[in-house]
Amino acid sequence: MSVAFMPPQETALDEQFAQLAAQHVAPRSQQAYDAEILDRLAWRRLAAHGLWRNGVPTQLGGNGGTWKDLATAIAGVARGSDDLGFTLSLIAHAGLIRALVIHGTDWHHQHILPALMKGAIGATALTETHGGSDVARTRTTGRRIEDGWLLNGSKDHITNAPVADRALILGRAPELGRRDITLFIVNLHSPGVRRGTPEELLGLRTSPTGAIHLDDVFLPEQAILGKPGEGLTTLYDIISFDRALYGLVAAAYLEPRLDDVLNFAHQREAFGSPIIDHQYVQGRITDIRITIETARAISLAGIDALIARAPEASLRCSIAKLVGSEGLVEAAQNLMRLQGHVGYIRGTITRDLQDALGTLIAGGTTEMQRKNILNQMLAARDNA
Ligand SMILES: Cc1cc2nc3c(=O)[nH]c(=O)nc-3n(C[C@H](O)[C@H](O)[C@H](O)COP(=O)(O)OP(=O)(O)OC[C@H]3O[C@@H](n4cnc5c(N)ncnc54)[C@H](O)[C@@H]3O)c2cc1C
Repeated sequence: MSVAFMPPQETALDEQFAQLAAQHVAPRSQQAYDAEILDRLAWRRLAAHGLWRNGVPTQLGGNGGTWKDLATAIAGVARGSDDLGFTLSLIAHAGLIRALVIHGTDWHHQHILPALMKGAIGATALTETHGGSDVARTRTTGRRIEDGWLLNGSKDHITNAPVADRALILGRAPELGRRDITLFIVNLHSPGVRRGTPEELLGLRTSPTGAIHLDDVFLPEQAILGKPGEGLTTLYDIISFDRALYGLVAAAYLEPRLDDVLNFAHQREAFGSPIIDHQYVQGRITDIRITIETARAISLAGIDALIARAPEASLRCSIAKLVGSEGLVEAAQNLMRLQGHVGYIRGTITRDLQDALGTLIAGGTTEMQRKNILNQMLAARDNA
């Protein structure tokens, strides 16, 4: 497998998890796809190999390092797993791990984080049936009671919801006044939590999505993540990392596909020569490479900015998401076109295309990334 240029330490982590994914995820991926389930065994095995310890400080039970290490390990899984859906389920969990480490208290670090590093499954639940782009319209409501909170509401289309153990839930606490958006960490095995049936999606069938219904769910006082009422600020930091991961994963996922199609283009002949000799074919192949390099570079630049807490982090992470998901869809189409009719027979190539389309919506649509890019540009101009 070819790997885009990376420093030696990152290459080692990427290669380690690419190999683990090739061993534990890829062989079971088609079976999981047909059954439309998340492969929990593969999930537990990657956790046992320390996937979720990357980037987590050693005093919290992690391996130390930076969030780039976790991102690199997940990119390795994307490259070796042959399973985009499984990798997107990892992204939903990765955001929660990072959020707990950065914004969590000792209570979160002691009571929530350890299980999530060992193989429990996390979800990040923002979207509700009435809309996902405008997250601040959330109707999920927390009401303070003597010894904690009672949470009511419904979340929809949430990655991992049918199987997750813990979720970050965006809601509001009206008693706080105008700034009332608040993040709640919920044990999904609590009384009052009900899950919807898994949704039937066009693709990403190894990444189950569904609803989470909350009916007077009791939460201890400590279950709030970040400051009550300041949930949006915390949330933007959390989703920025997810967005950068989408870009990085898109690049990594395409690498082995590009190797395969290059081989195909050397073997397949038309008009007396291998099709790689035809310029229009070369154009499609180079476009895939350009997507890989640009998505990867901007994603890493976004993660660097997040680590440095630099103001351009949010803008770069939105560009990473946009370039990654749009580029992935275009590349999946190119992979299909390059293989002619064979590319349209139901199988790996058509699954890639169906899976890729989901990334245009999951993690925020392209329109929302553009909106954020412009908002960030205008904010930077005002602050100059
Ligand atoms: C595979 C998959 C996994 C998902 N996983 C999760 C998850 O784990 N957690 C979670 O919270 N959600 C998840 N979602 C939901 C996803 O985040 C939302 O579907 C997405 O944010 C869009 O929300 P919506 O579907 O309600 O569309 P809407 O917000 O109703 O938007 C509809 C259309 O209008 C456009 N639009 C809206 N506002 C504007 C505007 N101001 N300017 C221009 N265009 C605009 C949108 O871009 C879109 O094209 C997932 C979705 C998918 C497909």
